This record gives sequence, structure tokens and C-alpha cells, in this order.
Amino acid sequence: MTKVYWTATSKNGKTGNIPGAWIGENKEECRQSCKESGCPLFRKEIAEKLGLLPCYAHVGRVNMAFSSVIKAAKLNPERYSLDSAFSKAARSARVGRFSVIGNAGILSMDEVKDIKKGFKRWNLGVLGYFYGWKKYSHLKKFLMASTASIRDADNAISQGFRPATVLPANFKDEVFETPNGNIGLQCLAITQKNINCNQCGLCVREWNPLKELKRLKAMGIVSKKVYKRIKNHPKAKSLIIGFVTHR
Ligand code: SF4
Ligand code: SF4
Repeated sequence: MTKVYWTATSKNGKTGNIPGAWIGENKEECRQSCKESGCPLFRKEIAEKLGLLPCYAHVGRVNMAFSSVIKAAKLNPERYSLDSAFSKAARSARVGRFSVIGNAGILSMDEVKDIKKGFKRWNLGVLGYFYGWKKYSHLKKFLMASTASIRDADNAISQGFRPATVLPANFKDEVFETPNGNIGLQCLAITQKNINCNQCGLCVREWNPLKELKRLKAMGIVSKKVYKRIKNHPKAKSLIIGFVTHR
């Protein structure tokens, strides 16, 4: 069984104060999940070859925080269970992050089902991405598929995934279309001020992106023009979320 630690809160300004998952009993197991997925961000040299930034999670603050979680869980394992963490989450939390570190592809279908039930029990949406969509089709309806190009995003959509993707460094528009005629929106935390994932919710795979967009339009975060363009698009339900993270 795959070990997943759950924490109740987060100081990450982009995601907002939400609970989160840390995959792997220890650093080796966590890194193994990333390696097995074929994530291009795992190895610095591969990421750089593709013009991408290597994963920040295995170095710096996230990595240090993971060390603390592993250490503290040895003394008090119950504190890091899903129910314990979710019960202590901020009242404002609408979503939980799956995951802060590690690749969810390592989880079996039964483990995914259990986690889904946990999120449902606490009325939280599952916010997260995974690399390796060709390998982990059981996550199709559970998480957003991470892709390294819009062509790869097109391929993922043709297989029933909803993807997030990397956009060229000089990309400035809010909305984009792909060679296969799919539609995408640049991450709102990048294009708008004062919006985090907890408020946004567009990367919750199980939620209807059009419903979320309508709510965001009512809040004045998404313009009427952008909402209308996406709403009227035939592929709106598989809305891609784009990130400018190129070097
Ligand atoms: S799978 Fe996620 S955590 Fe692992 S290296 Fe890739 S981006 Fe980082
Ligand atoms: S689109 Fe929304 S949910 Fe997705 S990463 Fe950006 S702010 Fe977070």
C-alpha cells in the first residue's frame, strides 16, 4: 500500500490555505514515484533540454517541509491521516491538493477510490496534476494530466483526459487554441491579481470547468468576453489550463 501523508494547512500563496498530500513513506519512495512516471521535470538535464524548469518540490522549502512531516509522523502517525488533516483544515478550504510532492500514478485504483471517498466525506474538491498520463489511465477522471506541450495536451484530450500544459515563455493571451481545435485558458493565478487555486477551482478534474468559470465571471475574476469565448467553444468541457514556465 502506498503511504500518503496528509497535512491540514498550507502557506503557499498560489494554492491558498488548503490541505495537501505528500506521497511516499520516505524521500526514496517519493522520488521513485516521480521517476517511474517519466516526469520530465524530475531530472534537471531532461527538463532543461525541453526548455522547462526542473521540479522545485525536491529541493528547497517543500523538500525540507517533507522531512519534517516524515519525522513528525514517526511520533504521531494519526496526525497525518486524511481524516485528521481534513478535520483541521481551514473552514474556507474548498479543495485539497493532491499532491504537494510525489506522483499519484503510483496509487492503485483501490487507493484512488478510497481517497476520492475521503474528499467526498469532507466536501472538498481534488486539486492536482500527474505526469505519465499514458501510463496511468486510472487517474483519467480523478486528476488533471500534466503535459509538456499543447500537442501533448491534444493527445491527452483525445484519450479522455483533461490536461494542464506548458505555454511558450512569450505567451501573453488569456485564451489559446491548439492544433486539434481544443481550447485553453492561462492559469488565473498568473493573469489575475489576488486569486488562488482554492478560490479558482478550475484545476479540479471532477468539477465542470464551465460551472466554475460562470462563478468566476460572477465574481468579476473572469471577463464576460473570456467566459463567452470558452462557453461557446465545442471543446469547453476539456478546458486546458496553461502555465508559462519555460526558461
Ligand atoms: S511528478 Fe511532480 S513532484 Fe515528481 S518530479 Fe514531477 S513535478 Fe515534481
Ligand atoms: S487555473 Fe486556477 S486552479 Fe488552476 S492552477 Fe491556476 S489558479 Fe489554480
